[in-house]
Amino acid sequence: MQTVELVHELKPYKSLSNEELRTRINAVREDLDERLLILGHHYQQDEVIELADLRGDSYLLSQMAADSEGCRVIAFCGVHFMAETADILANRPEKLTERNGERVQVILPDMAAGCSMADMAAIDQIENAWDEMGEVLETSDITPVTYINSAASLKAFVGRHGGIVCTSSNAKAAIKWAFAKTSRVMFFPDQHLGRNTALGMEITNDQMPVWDPHADELGGNTEAELENSKVILWKGHCSVHQMFRPEHVAMFRKKHPGIQILVHPECPQDVFELADEYGSTGKIIRTVKEAPPGSKWAIGTELHLVNRLKHEHPEQEIHFLSPVVCMCATMYRIDLAHLAWSLENYRDGTPTNIIEVDEDTAKWSLVALERMLEVR
Ligand code: SF4
Repeated sequence: MQTVELVHELKPYKSLSNEELRTRINAVREDLDERLLILGHHYQQDEVIELADLRGDSYLLSQMAADSEGCRVIAFCGVHFMAETADILANRPEKLTERNGERVQVILPDMAAGCSMADMAAIDQIENAWDEMGEVLETSDITPVTYINSAASLKAFVGRHGGIVCTSSNAKAAIKWAFAKTSRVMFFPDQHLGRNTALGMEITNDQMPVWDPHADELGGNTEAELENSKVILWKGHCSVHQMFRPEHVAMFRKKHPGIQILVHPECPQDVFELADEYGSTGKIIRTVKEAPPGSKWAIGTELHLVNRLKHEHPEQEIHFLSPVVCMCATMYRIDLAHLAWSLENYRDGTPTNIIEVDEDTAKWSLVALERMLEVR
């Protein structure tokens, strides 16, 4: 592959102050006008969020970008799988036709901004597991369901095998949809979202074996366990939400009588079951916003979001549900230096860090994403 020399190297940007970086980013913004959209995921650090045109969760951001008329370049301040989803949705066939074939380019300001959960399920591991499962079960009677927090290759796998993508807000509807087709579901990559959701559908833990891709055979399960299964969970988790513990819940309840525990469903079952309320990032934000002033909350989700909620809702008493720092370290890699560097390279003719999903993967991912829309 031919390497193009960039107009701007990254190193000098790292010694600029945030003020200087902001000025340079805003200058690119003026130059590109409505052609540029800067998207900021809720878990981003404040200085990035302040510069974002749109703020939201991964799916909402991609959709807003895809529906925006004049946009031709998206700087996605999130992680890799989110930029892939934005590329797939923004460049779906009907959108390309509307733009006479012109693509929207999606920039991920730091290519090292991955997701530890998405990385726990590689496509070859999923394909091997599917084949191995087929030695014991009829795979034609299993519907694969992938959480949107997964690589495009997994979404495409799901699309090809009659399955569906879900978000944390429609996981229940997606699993229900899957059970209308087959008697079993394979859910990846987040075991906690799969388990917490299925438990609310009267499926029991013994009907949810966990498939460990590193086990010697059958994902560490016996044939009988697989035959008894309703939902086969993948052994993956979010390194941020996995950190919340039942003892943190107990500590807050003891110290702050009347406090309500609000968690994301990526938290482990033992924490999830102790919570008063749970929901997606969007639901957590809404719950805090709509609560009567003076409500007390201990929130189990990413640190930057909880701190922002504290700041934006001084009328509520908000605590972070852990004595340790739980932040999304990979998302934190996106900083103003990388944003300014990637935007100036784009404007000055050497686009870099462009995320472009290959045509076949995009086609099948879109099939699975469109099914997700049907069951929202
Ligand atoms: S918070 Fe967890 S699931 Fe979300 S991007 Fe970070 S590591 Fe991935």
